[in-house]
Amino acid sequence: MTAARAYLDHNAASPLRPEAREAMIAALEHEGNASSIHAEGRAARHVVEDTREKLAALIGALPQSIIFTSGGTEANAMALSPSWLRGNGAARLFVSSVEHASVLRGGRFATSDVELLPVHSNGIVSLEAARDAFAAWHATGLPFLVSLMLANNETGVVQPVAALAELAHEFGGLVHCDAVQAIGKIVVDASALGADLLTVSAHKFGGPKGVGALAVLREGLPIATLVKGGGQERGYRAGTENVAAIAGLGAAVGALTGNDREPREIAILRDELEAQIAVIAPEAMFFSRRAERLPNTSCFAIEGMSAETLVIAMDMHGIAVSAGSACSSGKVERSHVLDAMGVAPGLGAAAIRVSLGWNTMTADIERFAAAWSAIYRTFAARRHAA
Ligand code: PLP
Repeated sequence: MTAARAYLDHNAASPLRPEAREAMIAALEHEGNASSIHAEGRAARHVVEDTREKLAALIGALPQSIIFTSGGTEANAMALSPSWLRGNGAARLFVSSVEHASVLRGGRFATSDVELLPVHSNGIVSLEAARDAFAAWHATGLPFLVSLMLANNETGVVQPVAALAELAHEFGGLVHCDAVQAIGKIVVDASALGADLLTVSAHKFGGPKGVGALAVLREGLPIATLVKGGGQERGYRAGTENVAAIAGLGAAVGALTGNDREPREIAILRDELEAQIAVIAPEAMFFSRRAERLPNTSCFAIEGMSAETLVIAMDMHGIAVSAGSACSSGKVERSHVLDAMGVAPGLGAAAIRVSLGWNTMTADIERFAAAWSAIYRTFAARRHAA
């Protein structure tokens, strides 16, 4: 990326932090396998265990709770595949209707055993509906698992995970929290959240893509092994560890630790960006703006302005943003998050997500505002002429 571009899509992937790049390059020099007992193996093992300790400390967990995975998707799949799963309606998975696709797919739960919990119009899960749903299932005497994300990737809304976990535990359920979008943006304290399982992904906070972790926060949880083979990761996840990626994860965690300045500065830039959007287009609709949100995320729409067209126009002005959700297939699809919030389809189809991060500067916001002004003027002129 040239400096002439403004990258404002950190919720899709945050650029690699320099510390992470350096740590990865250094780790690539380790020729040993982290499972070998010779000096080369021990050096690689040291990198893996150092990251485990750093990550555990960041989220307030024990090092032995961390299982490294290939990212958030795999950690979510593991969390949603408890070993007691029998299928045929013998267990239930409750997920909020605004979860990431990797949770909505339900891991090993049959589609018919996955129940969606509704959200309010601000995107926050309904605790009342959750209580009713848990109570009804509890009456069957069968086990259940709940999965609620800490922060939403599209709107940035922060969910009441601690309250939901308390509720689920009251009825005997297990709780998983997808904290992928929250780490590095807000404080994530596993014990305060009260979840039993928690998902981490490095590339959302300046680590490399393709590495993450599942934190197993309670002893004796029934975790299924999805990738079977050697005894790595205490037998929970076989395969030779990706030492360089784990080193990058550790260095990115190191950059976050004790760094509460970064989220505060990012929030100021995000608020400035929203002010600029609204000055130019007073009718702009900001989603979940009055709810507790991540400091880096803004999701907004202008009725009649196609998100796809806007993303392309922004790209031509040197600005990277996303349309609604992450468009993993490369094409823009309707946002299930905005649908679940009851946003009218026309407005939802216009939703744009701008997400800031560790390397965002005032110049990026200025660049965005200049492009937004030019694009909006063209749109408004066409609207007027129509
Ligand atoms: N969960 C959330 C909330 C996400 O935003 C993402 C990625 O967009 C994932 C899970 C998947 O993580 P990964 O890309 O590491 O597989």
